Amino acid sequence: MAHHQILIVGGGAAGLTAASQLKRARPQLEVAILEPATDHYYQPGWTLVGAGVFSLEQTRRDEASLIPAGVHWIREAAAGFDPAASTVTTSSGASLSYDVLIVATGIQLCWDRIKGLPEALGTQGITSNYRKDLLDYTWKTIQEFQGGNALFTFPQTPIKCAGAPQKIMYLADDIFQRSAAVSAKTTVYYCTATPGIFAIPAFAEPLKQVVARRDIQTRFQHTLKEIRPTSKEAVFEVKEGESSREEVIPFEMIHVTPPMAAPEVVATSPLAVKGPGGWVEVDKYSTQHVRYPNVFSLGDVSSLPNSKTAAAIRGQAPVLVANLLAFLDGQPLSARYDGYACCPLITGYGRAIMAEFNYDGQPMPSFPLDPTQERASMWLVKKNLLPWLYWNRMLKGYEHERRFVPGLAKAAR
Ligand SMILES: Cc1cc2nc3c(=O)[nH]c(=O)nc-3n(C[C@H](O)[C@H](O)[C@H](O)COP(=O)(O)OP(=O)(O)OC[C@H]3O[C@@H](n4cnc5c(N)ncnc54)[C@H](O)[C@@H]3O)c2cc1C
Repeated sequence: MAHHQILIVGGGAAGLTAASQLKRARPQLEVAILEPATDHYYQPGWTLVGAGVFSLEQTRRDEASLIPAGVHWIREAAAGFDPAASTVTTSSGASLSYDVLIVATGIQLCWDRIKGLPEALGTQGITSNYRKDLLDYTWKTIQEFQGGNALFTFPQTPIKCAGAPQKIMYLADDIFQRSAAVSAKTTVYYCTATPGIFAIPAFAEPLKQVVARRDIQTRFQHTLKEIRPTSKEAVFEVKEGESSREEVIPFEMIHVTPPMAAPEVVATSPLAVKGPGGWVEVDKYSTQHVRYPNVFSLGDVSSLPNSKTAAAIRGQAPVLVANLLAFLDGQPLSARYDGYACCPLITGYGRAIMAEFNYDGQPMPSFPLDPTQERASMWLVKKNLLPWLYWNRMLKGYEHERRFVPGLAKAAR
C-alpha cells in the first residue's frame, strides 16, 4: 500500500492552495494530491462568462500546470474513506495510507432533486451558471430574451457563492433594459428559499435598494420543486409558518441554482456530519476533524459554517496549514479561522458591492472604503484583480495575508 505523509483529496481551489502553502512553509514535506480532473476552472469567473464578459476558456487552466512543484499528483478519485485505519480507497481500487488527510473535494450539485430539471436544462430558456457547459446558453438566452417572466432561483441548502444567483439576475436585467420594448414586457423575479435577500444584514440593506430600483419582484420562502418545460412553468413550495402551499409561476427564462451537498463518497463516510449536507465535520475554528485528529478539511466540502466561496479559502488555508504543522509537531493547535468570506456582489455591468464578512456577519473590508456601497472600482477588482490574485497568488501559496491594503493587514490566525 502506498503511503503519503500528507494526502490531499481534491485538487481544486482549496486543495491546490493548501498544497502550495504547505510546501512553502515546509519544503521537505511529502505531499500527494488525489484529483481525477485534468482541467481546473476559476469558477468565480463563471457569472461573467454567463454574462458575456469572459469566455469559458479564460477561466480554464491545465491541472498539471497548477500542481505545486514537488507534489505528487495521483490522477484518480477517492472512492472510499476509512479514517479509523487512516486509508483512502481510490477509483481503481488501490488503497493509500496517510499520516494526515486533507479533504477538499468541493460540493455536489443535486440537479435531480428538482423534478423535470436535469432533462430540461439547456432548452426552453432553462439554464444555470453552475454548469460550465450551460454558460454560453445563459448568455444566448439573456440576449435573445423578448419579454415575459425571467426567474432566478436560490435553493433550500447551503450553496457555493450565495451571491451568484442574484448577480446574474442584475446583469440580465441590464441587458433587458437596453431595449425599452423588451423591458416594458418583462418582469424579473428573485425566488429564494431563504427568508431574505442576503444573510448578512449589512449587505442585505443595499441589495434591497438595488432590487427596488430595478423593480424586481422578490419571492421569499419559495423553494423550486419542479420545472415543466413544455408549459414553461416553475413549481414552488412556499413556506408559510408551519404549513406550505404550492405556487406555479410561468416563465420565458429561468436561471436555476440547484440544491447542493457534499459528494456521496464523503457524505456516506465516517467523516460526515450527521444530518443534511454530509459535510466533513470539522471544528469551525481549527479546521481539524472533530473525531479524527489527523484529518483536516477546507473549502466547500467542509462543515465550516461560513459562506462557501473561493475567497473563504484564503482565510481558511493559512489556519489549516498552521494547525496541521502544529499537529505534526505535537504542539497545540492555536490558529483560528474567523469565518472570513468574500462575495463580490455584482449589481450590474460596471458596479459591485464587495461583501467581505466573518462568522459574526461583521463586515471585514479589505479596502479603506464603505464596503456597503456599489462601486465601479469593485467591479474592476472583481473582473481584473481577483482572477489575477487567484492564479498568481492564492493557488501558488503566496496569499498568507488576505488583506490587499498594507497597514490594514490583520492576522487571520
Ligand atoms: C457560478 C459560480 C460563481 C461563483 N462565484 C464566486 C465568487 O464570486 N467568489 C468566490 O470567492 N467564489 C465563487 N464561487 C465559489 C467557488 O468557486 C468555490 O467556493 C470554490 O471553487 C471552492 O473550492 P473547493 O476546492 O472547495 O472546490 P472546487 O474548486 O470545486 O474543487 C474540488 C475538486 O475536488 C475534486 N474532486 C471531487 N470529488 C473528488 C473525489 N472523490 N476524489 C478526488 N477529487 C475529487 C474535483 O474534481 C475538483 O477539482 C462561485 C462558484 C460558481 C459555480
